This record gives sequence, structure tokens and C-alpha cells, in this order.
Amino acid sequence: MTDRPSPECQAAPRPLLMLDVDGPLAPYVGSPYRRPEGYLTHRVASRTWRERQRASGVRNPKPLRVWLHPEHGPALRALPFELVWATTWKDEANEHLAPLLGLPELPYVDWPSMHHGDPDGLHWKTRHLVEWAAGRPFAWVDDELEPADTAWIAAHHPAPALTLPVDHRVGLRPADFAALTTWAAALG
Ligand SMILES: [Mg+2]
Repeated sequence: MTDRPSPECQAAPRPLLMLDVDGPLAPYVGSPYRRPEGYLTHRVASRTWRERQRASGVRNPKPLRVWLHPEHGPALRALPFELVWATTWKDEANEHLAPLLGLPELPYVDWPSMHHGDPDGLHWKTRHLVEWAAGRPFAWVDDELEPADTAWIAAHHPAPALTLPVDHRVGLRPADFAALTTWAAALG
């Protein structure tokens, strides 16, 4: 027998997976009648949504219609990542979406501000996410990622990072899950 720690003890912490919601998990299109294949329609009583509707003059806002894929929760849980909400839904993702997707309560990025302009033209999330990751490897799935965000992260984040743009009309696809798995495996 040796004193070597068990494989579990030797394992490095898993990379983070920063999850945008609107687009990758909840696709949206111009027409309400073109729900992508495999998705189910849910009506979500989001506080933020109601407040925004009221602010724009809607007196009795209806719940927000959201399309979610029933296989996304299990597929995300099976990935070798620590899942993190990186969405304007913030804690409401845990309240409303996690149960529908079959996900546990997850940590979320509590943005100090949202939708602000960036002096270098980056996405408003980009600098926050690098700060939140605090030097850990991370992957980020989002429908608003641009090459400038990828380049900035590569130059400013000291660990590997994968940026995975997703088409907001179709959401996460099997190829995206495969890309995430391959990337995480290559980290070793
Ligand atoms: Mg989005």
C-alpha cells in the first residue's frame, strides 16, 4: 500500500460552464409559431419580465413564454463541468428554469450591471465572466458572442477558455455538447 491519495483527491477541479439562457437553452425566433424541434413551451411567471412589461405600459402582463428542451438538463448534468448561470435571469434561472430543465440549484453570476456599453466593444458579460472565473478554466455558451470577446478572453484570462457561439434560433445542439466534452477532456 502507498500513501498516494485516491484518484478523486488528485483530480483537478472541473472547468466552469457559463450558461447563457436566452438563445442557447431558450431559443427565440421572430415568429411565435416556429418552435424548434424537440422543445416544449412553458409559461414562466418571471418577476423581472412582469416588471419590464409593466414599465412598458402593459397593465396585466402574461407569463413569459419560454421554449426549453427536456433533454438539455440531463445532458448538461452529464458534462464534466461545474455549471454556472451566466444570464440576465440571474437567480430567477434557479427559481423558474432549473426545475423545468431538471437541473439542481446552480451558482449564478450576479452582474454588477447589465447591457452596458464597453470601451473596447466587448459583450457586456465578457469582463465580468473573466473576473468571476478567477483564473479557472471555463467554457461560455452564448448567442451573442463575437470574435472580439474570444480574443479578449484569450489575452486576459490566465487559463484555457472556450467560447461557443450558439444560434439563438435553434439553441444548443448535440454538436455543442460534443465540443464541450472534447474540450474538457483535452484539459486533462
Ligand atoms: Mg442570449
